[in-house]
Amino acid sequence: MIHHRKAIGSGAIEVVCGPMFSGKTEELIRRLRLAKIAKQKVQIFKPAVDNRYETECITSHTEQKFACTPIREPKEILEQLIDNTRVIGIDEVQFFSEELVEVCEKLANRGLRVIVAGLDQDYLGQPFGPMPQLLAIADDAAKLKAVCMVCGGEATKSQRLTRETDQVVVGAEKHYEARCRSCFDPELEMSGLKMEAKVTQEGEWKASGGTASK
Ligand SMILES: [Zn+2]
Repeated sequence: MIHHRKAIGSGAIEVVCGPMFSGKTEELIRRLRLAKIAKQKVQIFKPAVDNRYETECITSHTEQKFACTPIREPKEILEQLIDNTRVIGIDEVQFFSEELVEVCEKLANRGLRVIVAGLDQDYLGQPFGPMPQLLAIADDAAKLKAVCMVCGGEATKSQRLTRETDQVVVGAEKHYEARCRSCFDPELEMSGLKMEAKVTQEGEWKASGGTASK
């Protein structure tokens, strides 16, 4: 990729990733809040869900709110860029196409600070959307951990608890939980019986050999 260095400020790509419930949006908001305190103009984008195109907010548990522009295509970030913007925040980046990688590179090369947040892995534990490329080209990357809902250890995986097999299930957080590597079981998807046994009698099902022993 050709870099067009213009030496305007110090552009960078920062990645905040991890499983569900690891506080990625919290961390994104924390960084954006500090940028605002430093009086830097901030713009935030996220993937449009359904047909809702109006400006929305991303909200942290501490009730900090940031106006956020829903977009369908990564190139809309370039189209909607305001002249004096210094920092770009992008949430849920796993849902975007790989075109996002090029857009982030362009923005950073123009001297902007680009902070992207999202899932690093899907429910099968596979790299999710443009995240692997973003991680590779990032100037800085943070992998956040959640708490494993089975053993209480550090969770790096998002366990799906339904039979849906689409990679993307939007707005269905109740169908997921965070798991550590040893408690994570993507195969659960393949057996409805086992899955239901898990939901109702987790301990017993696990004891019957559903996952590899630790
Ligand atoms: Zn665990």
